[in-house]
Amino acid sequence: MVKIIMLGPPGAGKGTYATRLAPKLGIPTISTGELLRAARDDPEIGETIRKYQDSGELVPDEIVIQILKKRLEQDDAKNGFILDGFPRTLAQAKALETITNIDVVINLDVPEEILIKRLSARRQCKKCGAIYNLLYLKPKVDGICDKCGGELYQRDDDKPEAIKERLRVYHEKTAPLIDYYKEKGIMITITTDRIDVPPEEQVEKIMQKLKEKNLI
Ligand code: AMP
Repeated sequence: MVKIIMLGPPGAGKGTYATRLAPKLGIPTISTGELLRAARDDPEIGETIRKYQDSGELVPDEIVIQILKKRLEQDDAKNGFILDGFPRTLAQAKALETITNIDVVINLDVPEEILIKRLSARRQCKKCGAIYNLLYLKPKVDGICDKCGGELYQRDDDKPEAIKERLRVYHEKTAPLIDYYKEKGIMITITTDRIDVPPEEQVEKIMQKLKEKNLI
């Protein structure tokens, strides 16, 4: 039973690593980006979500916290989880503390030029959400998901203007969480210095560190 936060800028590999780590640990990945994308057609909050997501801004805390809280109440999250993309603000981090406790924060440290290259080449499956990269994590058949045969697409917020804005927002609102969790003494940092480091290699490093800390 381990409760993990994946912290890092857009394009750092949060989703890529979380979805590979989760089955090894027998816990779900909970991505607020995915939960919000799934609510884009909601008659009440869909329009607001689309507006913020498409421009690369953060969706207001109240909406994200409410969606996350509901997801954490589901049975599969009772034995631990990996949070991918939450918290992204100090207010979210504080709200999370009133909902549950966290064992470890995995901070992904990746230089900005790698983030930009990765995000621009990222493709995602419309059907199952699997993530690919045209530079180094290519699907076997162009435009088609290896796992489910779904169609691959480029997210609107992976286009240049939105990427710039997402990185700016990360530095302003999310990066302060690094010091916040460092001070709590629950942070592991994983550094990436090449664009083509295989995800499995980084996941293995994370597993090692979790073992060293007796978390798994
Ligand atoms: P992601 O899939 O994690 O890159 O998230 C995509 C977009 O969803 C972000 O750029 C935000 O617009 C929104 N989003 C995801 N998670 C959060 C969060 N914790 N707080 C606010 N907005 C979020």
